[in-house]
Amino acid sequence: MKNCILCETDGAEVIYRTGTWRVLLVDDANLPGFCRVVLNDHTAEMTDLPIAERTALMEVVWIVEQAVRDAMQPDKINLASLGNMVPHLHWHIIPRYQDDASFPDSIWSVPHRTIPENSLAMRKQRIPSLRNLLKKRLYERYGKKTQL
Ligand SMILES: [Zn+2]
Repeated sequence: MKNCILCETDGAEVIYRTGTWRVLLVDDANLPGFCRVVLNDHTAEMTDLPIAERTALMEVVWIVEQAVRDAMQPDKINLASLGNMVPHLHWHIIPRYQDDASFPDSIWSVPHRTIPENSLAMRKQRIPSLRNLLKKRLYERYGKKTQL
């Protein structure tokens, strides 16, 4: 398969990687704390995976979601698996705030507002804590050996 951005590049800052999946911290100016869990190989749907692999992948998503909640203190978490452009399974873990650009709609919808600068600055300040927390919990669960 050609032109798959998730095969050709890491996709964002790699926080942790195993042979099966990787956890990414996305650098999105308007959505600090946006993370992704990406399966390394091409699989279109969760139900294409054997049950044990689905469960294992979702466990990673839950660890990331909890870390995003703890570090970013969002009003809501949005979890999304779209993959309409590439048959390459990945989960978006998105911290949402009532004053973010498109709340309460999805982040991919038309923005309703400009995010107040002080809100955005406060969220950006939490990124180092989020990075550390993600690493700490992923190391605890999967071991410190990571193929960065
Ligand atoms: Zn791919």
